[in-house]
Amino acid sequence: MSKIKIKNFQAPRGTYDILPEEQPWWEKIRKTVKELSGDYGFSKIDTPIFEDMELFARSAGASSDLVEKEMYSFRTRGGDQLALRPEGTAGVIRAYLENGMVDLPHPVKLFYFGPMFRYERPQAGRYRQHHQFGFEVIGGDEPVLDAQVIQLFLHISRQVGLKKLSVHINSIGCPECRPGYRRALVDYYRSKKQKICPDCQRRLKENPLRLLDCKEEKCQPIKAGAPLTLDYLCPACHGHFKSVLEFLDELEVPYFLNHQLVRGLDYYTKTVFEVFFESEGQPPLALGGGGRYDGLVKNLGGRPTPAVGFGAGIERIISLMKEQGVKVPVKPAPKIFLVELGELGQRKSLKLFEELHKEGIIVAESLNKSNIKSQLKIADRIGVKFALILGQQEALEGTVIIRDMQSRVQETVPLAKVAGELKKRLAKK
Ligand code: AMP
Repeated sequence: MSKIKIKNFQAPRGTYDILPEEQPWWEKIRKTVKELSGDYGFSKIDTPIFEDMELFARSAGASSDLVEKEMYSFRTRGGDQLALRPEGTAGVIRAYLENGMVDLPHPVKLFYFGPMFRYERPQAGRYRQHHQFGFEVIGGDEPVLDAQVIQLFLHISRQVGLKKLSVHINSIGCPECRPGYRRALVDYYRSKKQKICPDCQRRLKENPLRLLDCKEEKCQPIKAGAPLTLDYLCPACHGHFKSVLEFLDELEVPYFLNHQLVRGLDYYTKTVFEVFFESEGQPPLALGGGGRYDGLVKNLGGRPTPAVGFGAGIERIISLMKEQGVKVPVKPAPKIFLVELGELGQRKSLKLFEELHKEGIIVAESLNKSNIKSQLKIADRIGVKFALILGQQEALEGTVIIRDMQSRVQETVPLAKVAGELKKRLAKK
């Protein structure tokens, strides 16, 4: 198909259209997420794509890259300061608190599916509008929940046909033990201040944990020698993490202890994880990640309520499905084409289309074309088995012609019998 570029109008940089031929991939993911969410006891929630900007500053953290550098924020005509959501968890927790879900039996298990917005430099697999599905378990601090959401992530990925996934996991502690770790990290980096990149110099001041996210070549050896979060965990966090790993062992989920995994948002506590696709000779590709956020509900005005969840990037999952040759079901092609001629024929055809639809028979048509030759050509191109021809004469007689497209044999049948006749003939083909 040749692309028509309308002068001056293009999708905004970093965004794209999900065209009809792409839809079966999206449908496959939507269907899988829906099925498994039910099996695991999650209910769907849709929250607005924009929220009070303060919500993200209070949850992900005002100095996180997500909020400071990547957020689309704007002031409305009424003077409200809003932001397009860069991630899903904050909105879900806001909705949980606002809609009285605190009174439901806990844990409250919710999932979402929708677009996220981040002002990032667009490149392969990185967009300014991308889509995520995510799962949140609100109201439970048991390590078994952490293990179960990781298992659910893998289950969905496997069900859509992905293999070679690995789980990277770490614990970043809680408000008790994290300050001790942060101090050790800052002390360590201070002594190497001259050797780190300008971004890390800034992180050192504003958000030291983010130092471990740096991808700059020259910072790598320094990062490799940094203190480990696990060495600074308090006994409660240590025990929790040990249990999560034991549950993963029980589920036979292989994992990799990644000491440098911190995830750059302020709300995370204890377990953090990311799921990667690994292939030889290529850097691992993150499909999604998540973790525990035991302080977030309280931080947004609720009672202390531990929670855990994850978000997964749909574009990346789809690109991997394609790369790995996963097949998705496509819409079945119609087997019948309705050709109509003349004003009366057209009127009757419109009705016949509806009646056949009621019988579960899907027909293709081009109601706006009146020439028999061009309509039969379309029928041929689509590859239907039969054409129904309804012209002036058939309309007056209350009949329709059934044409076998292969043998070109035509037979006239009463309109009332056409559905039954088609079903019989289709069953034989
Ligand atoms: P995060 O919470 O930032 O780890 O994002 C969760 C997942 O969303 C990532 O692992 C990616 O798969 C996906 N993702 C994040 N940002 C983008 C982006 N800008 N474009 C496409 N996918 C993204």
